[in-house]
Amino acid sequence: AREVHLVRRPSGFPEPDDFAFVDRELPEPGEGEVLVANHHFSVDPYMRGRMNDVPSYVAPFRLNEAMDGRSVGEVVASRSNDPDGPAVGDLVTANLAWRTHGVVPAKQVQKVSAPDGVSPSAFLGVLGAPGLTAWVGLLDKAAFREGDSVFVSGAAGAVGSLVGQLAKLKGASRVVGSAGSAEKVAWLTGELGYDAAFNYKDGSVTDQLREAMPDGVDVYFDNVGADHLEAAIACANDFARVAACGAIAHYNDTDENPTPGPANLFQIVKKRLSIQGFIVTDSIDRMRPFLEEVTPWVAEGRVKFAETTVEGIDRAVEAFRGMLRGENTGKMIVKV
Ligand code: NDP
Repeated sequence: AREVHLVRRPSGFPEPDDFAFVDRELPEPGEGEVLVANHHFSVDPYMRGRMNDVPSYVAPFRLNEAMDGRSVGEVVASRSNDPDGPAVGDLVTANLAWRTHGVVPAKQVQKVSAPDGVSPSAFLGVLGAPGLTAWVGLLDKAAFREGDSVFVSGAAGAVGSLVGQLAKLKGASRVVGSAGSAEKVAWLTGELGYDAAFNYKDGSVTDQLREAMPDGVDVYFDNVGADHLEAAIACANDFARVAACGAIAHYNDTDENPTPGPANLFQIVKKRLSIQGFIVTDSIDRMRPFLEEVTPWVAEGRVKFAETTVEGIDRAVEAFRGMLRGENTGKMIVKV
């Protein structure tokens, strides 16, 4: 079994030497546990925060141990004594990222079956936590209403690519996305049904957003923070709502090298804006209604999704660093 350990806390952008690949004997399940052989695991932006030794909503990764995160794999040995529990051969999701195999209490894995034609890796993306994040953020946190105009940053990523499609399916008047390449912009408007999109690297985000959204923004789904949040505040209509989901522009900041935040915060007062931060794990009870609504749309192809798959655990660090640099379209996945 091979694992990826964090061996040094990154300062700024993570470097390959912050990680080590460690081989160990295949672990054996104890009483009530199962051994899972991973097929796919997820590398996510929030993992960058867990690499810092600071208090947060989720505990930091410990040095010289395998990191964790969401995974999909097959039960290959079981000492579960629950007749309804996972059995050998079952496909399950677990919290066993960054390794080829792992042992967990049987209670901590969930049996899954993907719709026809959909890879089980979708449970790490469109039908998993990123999908739920998009759905909860747009509907519960930003209180989206039919007729709203919606701006989504990080729009070609795992979360963002679903936000815009949900908004369109639910009757948004206009949906605009920003992303970091011409190919991503073309995917948003050509495939996902965004009304307009722009590459934030092409110029001022505020200028590009104003041009793309001449009647202003009612809902902003923020994955980026920094210049994107400033632009959304600048272009917001009175009483607009912001779902503050992430701030990836800041994740590699250091005290010496911070990314500037929005300079126009007083506009929040003048425009009576609402900004609601949220963490998806607080809304795990929304998973069932989310899956009931979105699974059929995925199965029917009404919701499209993409995965960028990096093959081999040996390339997991590369996948993580690539995701932070925008090398993924849709969900970044490691295929073990
Ligand atoms: P993505 O699939 O969107 O991958 C990250 C993307 O961020 C990259 O592909 C890159 O795309 C973009 N990016 C990187 N640096 C910058 C930058 N400086 N400015 C603008 N864009 C940048 O990841 P997820 O969909 O998993 O996550 C999206 C956001 O949602 C993150 O902020 C994450 O932390 C947050 N999140 C929050 C949750 C919550 O509970 N609140 C749960 C899940 C995710 P590009 O080419 O466009 O630059």
